[in-house]
Amino acid sequence: MDTEELKLKTQEAVESDRQRLTQLSLSIHSNPEPGFKEEKAVAWLTGYLEENGFHVERGFVGLSTAFRATYGQGGPMIALLAEYDALPQMGHACGHNIIGVAAAGAAVASRLTVDRLGGSVTVIGTPAEEGLGGKIDMVKAGAFSEIDVAMIIHPNSLNIMTIDALACSTLDVEFFGRPAHAAGQPHKGINALEAMIQSFTSINSLRQHMRKDARVHGIITDGGEAPNIVPAHSAAEFLVRAADMEYLAQLQDRVLNCFKAAATASGARLEYVWRDKIYAPMKNNAILAGLLARNMERLGRQVTPFDPGLGFGSTDMGNVSQVVPSIHPTIAIAPPEVTIHTAEFVAAAASEAGHQGLIDAAKAMAMTVVDVLQPDILYEIKREFVGG
Ligand SMILES: [Zn+2]
Ligand SMILES: [Zn+2]
Repeated sequence: MDTEELKLKTQEAVESDRQRLTQLSLSIHSNPEPGFKEEKAVAWLTGYLEENGFHVERGFVGLSTAFRATYGQGGPMIALLAEYDALPQMGHACGHNIIGVAAAGAAVASRLTVDRLGGSVTVIGTPAEEGLGGKIDMVKAGAFSEIDVAMIIHPNSLNIMTIDALACSTLDVEFFGRPAHAAGQPHKGINALEAMIQSFTSINSLRQHMRKDARVHGIITDGGEAPNIVPAHSAAEFLVRAADMEYLAQLQDRVLNCFKAAATASGARLEYVWRDKIYAPMKNNAILAGLLARNMERLGRQVTPFDPGLGFGSTDMGNVSQVVPSIHPTIAIAPPEVTIHTAEFVAAAASEAGHQGLIDAAKAMAMTVVDVLQPDILYEIKREFVGG
């Protein structure tokens, strides 16, 4: 059987499981679970993989809702990544029900590829993508040390093969001032809220001299207790993002200086913590993206180039892409005006278009597994990764 026949067989395999995959996706969608609490989703996905002959390891790398499900022996090992966490309150507004089930469906369809070409295919279940960076912990724990290539497909409103996700760090800041009667004896107070407002103003001044793809944005989480008391405490949470780790480090220093300057000016004491989970930028493997693009087009999907105006923020897949050749493409399941993290996208993730996106994502990944298990192609993918 040649490559083309094998690709057709994998498409048929996905198609024959359409009903089951759609049901799995709807079950996860109607039982949204937040990050690190995705027990039902993991039980359903691992159950499906186990039924289909996969060796399942639950609680992978010590995370209760991470898993690894493998078919085949030894290398090359191709990883299809599953996400399945929902957004608090909103439900599956990012369509991670589709990501998880597409990865599982593609893996099951890839069994015949592994039987013919050798190697193995593994679904790595990665919890808590939304804000909690589950994959950052998993990379640190060595979850990807045996992996040769990693793929994930995210639902969206366009078919885009490479996403320029930004590096991102989180800063928690607090100012400690001195309370006083705001009208009676204001001269005795040190205003922690004014220090925070000054910091915002300085950051806004800095913004006009930042690289255009960098982002700094924050919210005040404590701005005082009552208007007639000089605020003795203020707190904020900031995200600092940049296209690469070097510029991120520079920008972190410059942003922090805005808070330090406000502390000096106001007399309030500054305390701050940079959280230790830093999202790395996405390093897209162009060869892998090209293979997936051709397979998507064969399924009748029009592939759109990445537009920086449709930025994707940051993803913990960036951290995976720094250690393994990776891609994080998107598949259209909604009209272009519908964006992720909205109520409209919750509906799209359970719609007919959502189901078709899931089936096409599974087919496209399974077809790409056929490509990647060709030794010469895998060699080129790895050569690009190391910059050869
Ligand atoms: Zn999201
Ligand atoms: Zn997402």
